[in-house]
Amino acid sequence: MVNFLPIDPNFQANRKVVGDHKGHKVWGPVNPPSKLGIHGENVAVDWDVCTGDGICIDVCPVSLYEWAETPGNPLSERKSDPVRQSDCIQCLACETQCPTAAIKITPPP
Ligand code: SF4
Repeated sequence: MVNFLPIDPNFQANRKVVGDHKGHKVWGPVNPPSKLGIHGENVAVDWDVCTGDGICIDVCPVSLYEWAETPGNPLSERKSDPVRQSDCIQCLACETQCPTAAIKITPPP
């Protein structure tokens, strides 16, 4: 079943950190390959909303995303991974253009 709910903008309050991946946190629940959680803090991608469209990778002016392979995931077999989130300049291009509203940009503390 396709999940059309957007990323929870309050995920950092509502979810627990369950791991780390390429320098960012992973917020649960996680139960691969079907449930993958949210990747990142100030640049966060909900991998259970991401359909692997890739517009974020195309529009990010600082190229901070990379593809991550997610074989067996029912939504898409690759996800956008915010591997250099500290480079974000808060332009919001990715958040506003994501077709499934999987991305939440938060100013760093
Ligand atoms: S807000 Fe702009 S700089 Fe930050 S991740 Fe999105 S596209 Fe890249």
